[in-house]
Amino acid sequence: MTSARNDQSVAAEGGQRLTLSDEDALLCLYYDGGRLPSPSGGFLMVLGVQPEAEGSGSVFLECTSSSLRYRMSVPKATRSERKKVRDLIDQGDDPECPRHQEQPLMRIRHDLACPRCGVRYAKAK
Ligand SMILES: [Zn+2]
Repeated sequence: MTSARNDQSVAAEGGQRLTLSDEDALLCLYYDGGRLPSPSGGFLMVLGVQPEAEGSGSVFLECTSSSLRYRMSVPKATRSERKKVRDLIDQGDDPECPRHQEQPLMRIRHDLACPRCGVRYAKAK
């Protein structure tokens, strides 16, 4: 019998992550490149962006005054956003994030995703 490893890395990684109650308004600000107000005062600083398996993204944030950490989920690409990106590729242009202005998409594994929202917009050739 192989022993199952009891991996507690989730809990070890800098405490729990809270979810934000007003994600929609924050997402709008985030797409515009504005500063994100923190629910506990101060601002939210972006720690990192992570693409999720189903094509959506996660943005990890930390409050500058309380050091509380949050996770904001970014909805996956809509059909029209995917089309917009595909049209750019077909025209021979560098694909950009439909939500972030002048943010080129990056190749992440087999996909083209935005490094700022983590959302997957197209398959990489
Ligand atoms: Zn983006």
